[in-house]
Amino acid sequence: MKQIQRPMFSIRSLVMSVRKIHAAGKSSLRLDERVAIVTASTEGIGFAIARRLGLDGATVMVSSRKQQNVDKAVEKLKEDSINVAGMVCHVGKEEDRKQLIQETINKFGKLDILVSNAAVNPILDVPLVEATEKGWDKIFDVNVKASFLLAKEAYPHLKNSNNGSIVFVSSVAGFSPLSRSGAYGISKTALFGLTRALSVELGVENIRVNCLAPGIIQTRFSSAFWMNKAAIESDIERQLSIKRIGQPEDCAGIVSLLCSDDASYITGEIILVTGGVASRL
Ligand code: NAP
Repeated sequence: MKQIQRPMFSIRSLVMSVRKIHAAGKSSLRLDERVAIVTASTEGIGFAIARRLGLDGATVMVSSRKQQNVDKAVEKLKEDSINVAGMVCHVGKEEDRKQLIQETINKFGKLDILVSNAAVNPILDVPLVEATEKGWDKIFDVNVKASFLLAKEAYPHLKNSNNGSIVFVSSVAGFSPLSRSGAYGISKTALFGLTRALSVELGVENIRVNCLAPGIIQTRFSSAFWMNKAAIESDIERQLSIKRIGQPEDCAGIVSLLCSDDASYITGEIILVTGGVASRL
């Protein structure tokens, strides 16, 4: 059986080079002075994004449902000399969403970047026509409605930033539905619509709105896919141009770029990070 390859870079080497730049007193990082919120950021893709935004100079507020996960994530990010705070936020709860934004403003005085990353999929391996209403509602509440309401809550602060950026984390499944996970895919397609609609309205306020659509990335969320070694190897062989499963760090640099001035004329876009899975022309 072939080994699953790792990416060509390591986050450790990135941390070391950032520290060297700082030590040399030449630090002008692309997200210096920016304040970012990343939801669902205590592990997986959200954590990698929070870390990368922090390494690129942003002050970061991390969050997830469990205090112990928040504490661990904050500790790890502090080891990388990132300016970070954390708090509990279940994105499905109105009170939590409001507190997340308010606490960020109280602590850091402003907000420039919102990365809405949380998602659930309680209807796994079920034909779409058998999806329950309860499961459908949960998926749409967390994946779509909470993303919209967070953006709405963040909007006045992003407007004040005059350099605001929103990134919604969707999925390649929004383009190419996964078999027996249809409702999840439809919720991710809805995020493409949310990205486009908000980008049209918020461009005039200098708030850019973009979307990340990952393929199979090795996290707890996707473990049902990659734990099945035979299936994942056959998927890699058949579908991926880059012959390895994605890692959370593969998603992080592009989000940092989208939030930076290097992407100042990019809005309403959906960026696929899939290792080359065929999904659209
Ligand atoms: P993950 O590694 O399983 O991480 C999930 C994170 O979300 C944890 O920090 C968890 O912490 C937090 N979380 C879960 N439910 C939450 C909620 N309701 N409110 C706030 N935080 C919550 O997941 P992931 O694979 O990185 O997925 C992140 C995003 O990428 C999702 O939007 C997913 O749809 C998308 N995506 C993933 C893949 C993939 O292959 N992994 C592919 C395409 C798209 P707590 O338990 O403490 O809440």
